[in-house]
Amino acid sequence: MKTVRTVAELRAELAEPRRAGRRIGLVPTMGSFHEGHLSLIRQAREHCDTVVVSLFVNPTQFGEGEDLDAYPRDEQRDAALAEAERADLLFAPPVAEVYPDGFATTVRVHGLTDVLCGDPDRRGPEHFDGVTTVVSKLFNMVAPDVAYFGQKDAQQALVIRRLARDLDIPVRIEVCPTMREHDGLAMSSRNVHLSAEERHRAPALWRALDAADSLVSGGERDAVAVLAAARSELERARIEPDYLELRSATDLAPVEQVNGSTVLAVAARVGRTRLIDNKVLGGMP
Ligand code: AMP
Repeated sequence: MKTVRTVAELRAELAEPRRAGRRIGLVPTMGSFHEGHLSLIRQAREHCDTVVVSLFVNPTQFGEGEDLDAYPRDEQRDAALAEAERADLLFAPPVAEVYPDGFATTVRVHGLTDVLCGDPDRRGPEHFDGVTTVVSKLFNMVAPDVAYFGQKDAQQALVIRRLARDLDIPVRIEVCPTMREHDGLAMSSRNVHLSAEERHRAPALWRALDAADSLVSGGERDAVAVLAAARSELERARIEPDYLELRSATDLAPVEQVNGSTVLAVAARVGRTRLIDNKVLGGMP
């Protein structure tokens, strides 16, 4: 595996595989790899000829007072893990390569970005502006045939599908299942910030989703009842959600009756660490 740091080097490396008609897969990441990232790289390895992993802690998707400086970073370890998964290229640009002096463009997906995490009282739509702008750039830099994202960030995945569709970017978006610890906690680079006591309470997010899912599997369809079951799991762990909402899994519209395509999404601070998780209820993955 080769590590490249500039767009010019990246394009030079991809010229030959592209000319030869190889299928190029991209896995965008902010590093600090865990099984969630590795599962995306494995999917790319299985279905593509050339696998590009990008590693870039994107400053523009962090708000004022968020954890940009504290975000865990270990490029050497990440490079070794990506290589072990047989990635072909690690693209790890410095900030100035992505945002040179005078950079002045923002890509915004409207609507999907101002609910849940994008609610102006939470991270705000600007968080997703950071994501969609950098992902647009990565799509232009790599020109992948397929790009891999995690269901863990369900809203992000929907926003990126919308972005690719709206801007006619010729990339297939694959959304891969959430990888979890043995107790259900969704893997996240931020989990390293949890104290032992917080780590003990954190799986309540998963238990809340699971309790709701069990109710729905048993035939319950009423949103109020489903949310109450989830909320009581959070309360047992003394977790006050930032949000706990049932929404359409395809367009994030609020729902009052759960159907086959309803996602339950939760965000909560456990100590100082903000965790998110979600589950599509009623039998879908
Ligand atoms: P990040 O480095 O946190 O920006 O994540 C990079 C990619 O990995 C995103 O598409 C995430 O949705 C995905 N991802 C993060 N955590 C998980 C997980 N636990 N399972 C599956 N995918 C994940």
